[in-house]
Amino acid sequence: MGEAIPTNLLDLDLPGMESLAVEMGAKPFHGRNLLKWIHKHGVTDFEQMTDLPKGFRQRLADETLIDVPEIVFEQPSLDGTTKWVLELHDGQRIETVYIPDGDRSTICVSSQVGCALDCSFCSTAQQGFNRNLSAGEIIGQVWQATRELGKPPTNVVMMGMGEPLANFDAVVTAMRLMTEDLAYMISKTRVTLSTSGVVPALRRLKEVSDVSLAVSLHAPDDALRDQLVPINRKYPLEELIPACRDYIVGDKRRKVTWEYVMLDGVNDSISHAKALIRLLQGVPSKVNLIPFNPFPGTDYRTSPAERIDAFRDRLMRAGIITITRKTRGDDIDAACGQLVGRVRDRSRRQLRAGRGRATGGAS
Ligand code: SAH
Repeated sequence: MGEAIPTNLLDLDLPGMESLAVEMGAKPFHGRNLLKWIHKHGVTDFEQMTDLPKGFRQRLADETLIDVPEIVFEQPSLDGTTKWVLELHDGQRIETVYIPDGDRSTICVSSQVGCALDCSFCSTAQQGFNRNLSAGEIIGQVWQATRELGKPPTNVVMMGMGEPLANFDAVVTAMRLMTEDLAYMISKTRVTLSTSGVVPALRRLKEVSDVSLAVSLHAPDDALRDQLVPINRKYPLEELIPACRDYIVGDKRRKVTWEYVMLDGVNDSISHAKALIRLLQGVPSKVNLIPFNPFPGTDYRTSPAERIDAFRDRLMRAGIITITRKTRGDDIDAACGQLVGRVRDRSRRQLRAGRGRATGGAS
């Protein structure tokens, strides 16, 4: 038998930290303090965690590590959006995007390396599925962003690479840390999980979490959605829509956000808008129209602006709050659906040496 794999402390939420502390002979509140050191203060050197007992610190150093994904490239965009490419311990790369907007700072977080869902208009789909991220690799993106920004982001959207509900446990643990007071303290209404509609997992989510929900709808009927979002063949609209309604039921202030990518000549006509209005009847809804972001190899085109406006006006007249999402960071391929997990050599900028993986145990 080889040596036990050290626990990555970034994988643990508050109850996990408390049990670890107790297992190592310390008190639950030492686990709470440890969580605070790591996430609130960004400290990864156990020596600096002066309110933890010496024996506990020693065991942490011997048996655990704090494995932060390393920022290997940073690409700033003209509009302030920044894309970070992060490298994981096995050399895999993922992307995290920072989108500033006045007082608001949003981090777009990946949940998997690649994606298995094969949506026809999504560039991540082209690279296929590689693996799930661990909770630590998901929250590690927020850890890094918080250090880069000097404070936690105000909003997190699980809209990077991957299908979050296909990596359920890790995503739920990471979202708990985002909203945890002792960690990032982000309001649960400002953490948004975006899903293509994995219905059984969505039903489970309601049992354990109440973050905001965004659903990648993209079509108002099954025939078209089967083509665009193939998971619809498994979980058609008649199952998806009630599951989404049930997710927000009981809280009058909540709405489901429906994402709808505007594809020229495919899903953007007035009759599609009317069908969408019928489909969403009775569900408290907000619609986000996303102008399609083209990528090499795709045959889809973005709908003309007038058609997007007409589509939006039709929904608004039916009383559905509809906004057209601004395209951000498209000059650096950081826009929606462009996170492909690879960077072009010429446009990337090597970061200063010295910034990178923190392995607390080694110090
Ligand atoms: N797997 C999750 C998160 C995906 S990314 C989901 O499906 O919801 C967030 C949004 O970007 C999704 O609505 C996705 O459908 C959309 N998207 C993907 N590719 C796009 C593209 N090329 N242009 C515009 N939006 C795109």
